[in-house]
Amino acid sequence: MTAVYDLIAKKRDGHVHSAFEIDELVDGFVAGRIPDYQIAAWLMAAYVRGLNRDETLALTRAMTASGETISLDGLPRPIVDKHSTGGVGDKTTLVIAPMVAACGLPVAKMSGRGLGHTGGTLDKLESIPGLTTTLSRERFVAQVARIGLAVAAQTESVVPADRLLYALRDVTATVDSLPLIASSIMCKKLATGADAIVLDVKTGSGAFMRDPEEAVALAETMVEIGEGAGKRMAALVTAMDGPLGLAIGNALEVQEALDTLAGRGPADLTAICLLLAGQMLALGGKAATREDGAALARLALDDGRALRAFQDMVAAQGGPERFDGSQLPHAAVVLDVVAVASGYVTRVDALALGLLSRDLGAGRATKTDVIAPAAGIVLRLPVGSMVARGDVLAQLHLERADRDGSFAARCGEAIDIGPDAPAPRPLVHAIVEGHAS
Ligand code: URA
Repeated sequence: MTAVYDLIAKKRDGHVHSAFEIDELVDGFVAGRIPDYQIAAWLMAAYVRGLNRDETLALTRAMTASGETISLDGLPRPIVDKHSTGGVGDKTTLVIAPMVAACGLPVAKMSGRGLGHTGGTLDKLESIPGLTTTLSRERFVAQVARIGLAVAAQTESVVPADRLLYALRDVTATVDSLPLIASSIMCKKLATGADAIVLDVKTGSGAFMRDPEEAVALAETMVEIGEGAGKRMAALVTAMDGPLGLAIGNALEVQEALDTLAGRGPADLTAICLLLAGQMLALGGKAATREDGAALARLALDDGRALRAFQDMVAAQGGPERFDGSQLPHAAVVLDVVAVASGYVTRVDALALGLLSRDLGAGRATKTDVIAPAAGIVLRLPVGSMVARGDVLAQLHLERADRDGSFAARCGEAIDIGPDAPAPRPLVHAIVEGHAS
C-alpha cells in the first residue's frame, strides 16, 4: 500500500495515478482510514494538476463502488434519466420529467439539493406542502410502475464517497474542476440504474463551468464515461449567463414550472425543456430524432397530459391532490425593486441573483441551514425588455422586511440597463451525442 503522503506528492508533481492508487484514496477516505486534511490536499493537487481520462474514469468507478447501487429491476425498460450540472432558476426537471412520462417513457429520477449558489430539485419539490422526496426503494419503484414517474432523494447509502468528497470540495475551493465534476455527477448516474442519460451541462456566469469550451469538454468526458458503462448518452451544453425563466427560489420555481406545464411558461424555459425532453424521448426510443421527440413533448404540454403527470406525482409523494399552486407557501413580505434608469434590460447576473436568493433563505450557506420555501426573486422584465425609470424590475419574496435596503440594492445591481437592446444569445451552445444516440 502506498503511503497517502506519497500519493499527494505524486499528484502535486503532476504525475498520473494508477486506478489502484485512486481506489486506495477513495476507499481509505470512506472507511475513515485517511483523514480529511490529506484528502483536501490531494483534491487541491488534482484541481491544479488535473486528472486525465483514465484517472477520471477510475475515480468515477471507485466512487460508484463506494456504496449501494439502485436496482430498477421489474420496471418497464428503457428508463431514461436527466441531469443538470446546476444553475440559477433551473427548474427543468419539474417540467421535463412529467412531459417525458406523459409520452409513455418512465422517469425514475434521483435528484439533489442546492449546492452553492445553485438550487436543487429536492428543495423545490419539498416546498409543496406534504410532499416527501424520501422514498424507500420499494415505494420509488412501485410509484414508477404505477404512474411512470418518481423524483426522490438519493439515499445515504448510494455513493457515500461523493457526498464526503463533495462536502470537502465545497469548503476547499475545489468544486469547479472538470474531472472532479464529471466523476461526481457520473458516479451518481451510474449508481442509479437508468439505461440512458441526458445531461444538461450549463455554461456561463451562473454555472460551475463558465467557459463554453470547458463545458463542452466536460460534456464529452461525461458522455464517454457513461458510454463506457454501457449507457446511451447525450449532452446539451446550454446557456447559464442569466437565470433560467423568471423565478428563483423554491416555491416560486414550482409555480413557474406549473405555469410552464400549463403552457404559460417563459419562452427560454419552455424551449430548453422541450429540447431536453425531445432528446430523452429520442434516446428512449419513443421518437426517431430529438426534433420529433420535442414535437411529442409539445403535444403532451398542449393537451394537459404533462401537467396531469406532475399532479399525479405530487399526490403520489404525499402532496395535495390536484395540486394547482394555490397550496404553495407565500412570503410574508413582497418588495418591488424598481429601475433607476430607462433603456433596455441588457444583462441579468445569474451568479449575483443565485447568491442573493440563497441569502434571502432560498438556499443554504452552511449544510445545516433551514430553507425558507417561499423566499426568492421573481424577475418582472426579461433580458431584452424595454424599461422606463420607476418600472418594477423584480420582486423580492422575503421572510421579513429588508431593513437596510441591502437586498433590494443587490438585486438592482444584478440587473444591467443600457441604451441599446442586447443581441439575442443562443440558448444551446453545443450538443454532444454518444455513439448510440
Ligand atoms: N453537481 C454535482 O453533482 N457534482 C459536482 O461536482 C458539481 C455539480
